[in-house]
Amino acid sequence: MNYHLILTLDYEVFGNGSGCLCHCVVEPVDKVLALLEEYAAGLHCFVDATEFAAMSAHADHRDAPFDVRCLSRVEEQIATLGSAPHSVQLHIHPQWIGASVREGKWLLDYDRWRIGNLPRREIDHAITSGIRFLERHIDRSDERNCQCFRAGGWGIQPAAEVLSSLAQHGVRMDSTVAPGTRNRAQGDWFDFRRAPDTPYWYSDTDILLHSGSGVLEVPITTARLGRVAHAKILRESRNSGFPTGCSGSYDGPNSRLQSLAGKLGKLANMGVVMLDFSTLPAWALIEITQRYMSRFSAANGPIPIVAIGHNKNFSRWSEINLRQYLEWVAGQSELTFSSYSKWFVAATSGRAV
Ligand SMILES: [Zn+2]
Repeated sequence: MNYHLILTLDYEVFGNGSGCLCHCVVEPVDKVLALLEEYAAGLHCFVDATEFAAMSAHADHRDAPFDVRCLSRVEEQIATLGSAPHSVQLHIHPQWIGASVREGKWLLDYDRWRIGNLPRREIDHAITSGIRFLERHIDRSDERNCQCFRAGGWGIQPAAEVLSSLAQHGVRMDSTVAPGTRNRAQGDWFDFRRAPDTPYWYSDTDILLHSGSGVLEVPITTARLGRVAHAKILRESRNSGFPTGCSGSYDGPNSRLQSLAGKLGKLANMGVVMLDFSTLPAWALIEITQRYMSRFSAANGPIPIVAIGHNKNFSRWSEINLRQYLEWVAGQSELTFSSYSKWFVAATSGRAV
């Protein structure tokens, strides 16, 4: 088996704190887990430790802007996700640092949207307290858990301090980079157009530069499908919507004008697509996987193929398409359902890391 498919999910509510914990988090994730169980496949969840730690700290607040009973279900689910064949990895949305509640609403700090913009001591604090929160629910000594990081909103750049802090806290992989993509909006920018043309690489300063050591970047799989296919995907997924009973808002750190710049940037970037099992039809998931496999067919060793999904947009439509994709994956002899830890051992055995 040369290709390791790692199915990941960013486990969180919407970036402004909206979205019901039961309908937008627990229930769609239960649906994904039920599907994966049929294939004995694991789900590798990037749990936004910062937001759930903030919720946990406000569970007794009389105006808590979330359902406390649903938070208990979230915490139980995180514990389940921390056991084989699944795993829990570290995700941080820094706007939740110092979150407070006023009149039944979250007050979040949108100036802290991108972890790459934070001073080192705040990065260290976010990573330490994130790990500490996860450790309340999962066993970190299990090598499956908390080995990998993904920056909230993909905002890891400039990455030197984040990478240094991750290495210092024993997090040896990162899975934020989606090669070829970018977002030009000022408040939540990222730019991964110059990612190395390799299936993974070590990085210690610039996350897009190959270095001899540091944190191992295991990128989200992308492919250049072209504008026509991309437009077809957008058409087909237009009515996909939210999970049953879930609603929320994608409001973030940008003024309307900046958001427009972001949208235009995305349009300019049309054609490069992430392997996203919440928003892509099955044919596109299969095509991206096939293209990626042939692109790296000459590479040595096991190739990680990282798929991404989000609970908050995992709809009934996503479920149907993911089922078809999993069925296809199960029939591919060179492709196996894997995890970060399993891939890491296979990729680095016999090599110093
Ligand atoms: Zn996120």
